[in-house]
Amino acid sequence: MKIIAVGRNYAAHIEELKNEVPTAPVIFTKPETAILRHNEPFYYPSFSNSIHHELEVVLKISKMGKNIEEKFAHKYYQEIGLGIDFTARDVQSELKKKGLPWDLAKGFNGSAPISEFVHKEEYTLQDLNFELDVNGELRQKGNTNRMIYSFDTIISFVSQYFTLKTGDLIFTGTPAGVAEVQVGDRLTARLEGKTMLDFEIK
Ligand code: MG
Repeated sequence: MKIIAVGRNYAAHIEELKNEVPTAPVIFTKPETAILRHNEPFYYPSFSNSIHHELEVVLKISKMGKNIEEKFAHKYYQEIGLGIDFTARDVQSELKKKGLPWDLAKGFNGSAPISEFVHKEEYTLQDLNFELDVNGELRQKGNTNRMIYSFDTIISFVSQYFTLKTGDLIFTGTPAGVAEVQVGDRLTARLEGKTMLDFEIK
């Protein structure tokens, strides 16, 4: 399986990092080894001094497809969850400065903790509230009604380049409020008030 992620999909987050508003979805990938499941702890890597949390809604692809038309995109995912797109912001800043790929800053071990997945029919996908607390304090609060590119637009777009396969995951972008984590922090994330993630930084 593979992990596909969208950068710069919420205007307030683009603003906080002083990035340009994209004219097409900004896409990157993470390897399967980035995944953490079942609230396993995240081990802070030695190569960074600035690991940022990015809370995101994650789609789980339910059937194979490529060149998917936007109007059919909803047929390709049945479940949603939450994930953290951990980012080595210091490493990413250096790479961006040099115009180099972001892989080392985005795809390292443990950089993609994911929750259990829930059936999408139980939710209003265009109006999903999701939140991240760090040590019990609210850090990120998002709603999918603020996305620049919708779930279906993202699926249609990426499927022109990557064949989507059952089990692939799509991270759909983070709202504002990204910040550094520290060893000892406890991250808890909720989707429509339901706790989906609860793990520690070690
Ligand atoms: Mg992200």
